[in-house]
Amino acid sequence: MKVTFFGTAGLVPGMGLQISGSRGMLSMGIDDDTLLELGDGALRNINANGVDLNKVKRILVSHLHSDHFIGIVHVLFSMMNVFNRTRPLEVIGPRGIAAATQGLMALCELPVANREKRGYDIEYRELGEAEALDDLRTVKGDHPSEAHAFRIERNGQVLAYNGESIFTKEVTELVRGADLLICTVVVLEPHSFHIAPQDLGKAATEAGVKRVAAVHWPTEFEGRRDEFAQMIRDHYDGEVIVPDDFTKIEL
Ligand SMILES: [Zn+2]
Ligand SMILES: [Zn+2]
Repeated sequence: MKVTFFGTAGLVPGMGLQISGSRGMLSMGIDDDTLLELGDGALRNINANGVDLNKVKRILVSHLHSDHFIGIVHVLFSMMNVFNRTRPLEVIGPRGIAAATQGLMALCELPVANREKRGYDIEYRELGEAEALDDLRTVKGDHPSEAHAFRIERNGQVLAYNGESIFTKEVTELVRGADLLICTVVVLEPHSFHIAPQDLGKAATEAGVKRVAAVHWPTEFEGRRDEFAQMIRDHYDGEVIVPDDFTKIEL
């Protein structure tokens, strides 16, 4: 499995941290067939990575906060307008993702809102408490916007992603033993609904994951990512990666 990080920033680093960085908002690709999160402006770095949007079978969105989701509208439009897509596309995410996606396309007055003009079907899958879909398992986490965590198993390897839920028992169980756990980090100190570096380090240790990649990391650490990684390493002995935009990780 290969993960490509298109964008690694969040909208609100939070708690007095700055948001003036140069990185794109959160978006990743898994192999050629899955897009994971589509933050604002995701299409720019997706294009810069030369992604063939006709190979994408599904889009996974953890929750509907705009730094994880709002970029979907231009990706869907590009599939129509640049790639002349005809094959169906799955959009998988929290309750409300169908109405939110259709609403965005309509609000923006883009022809992609119209099925005939779009040329391809969008099949929405709104997630319940826990789901198993082909190589994907999901659980609902705990965040102000309904957020889901994902586990993908391919060729005996496990990629897990926690997109902004705190580490509930269910989320920790879902990521157990993963070869790579990608997780958002938003704040520096423990918080009621955002993850701090020490939370990620402790959860990764408890769940026995082999490697950790922290995304959505605060802008202050651009240029000194190792200091940020160390805050996770203080609670976890495995490898800690703090990806930048365009980083690729092979599992
Ligand atoms: Zn976020
Ligand atoms: Zn959020």
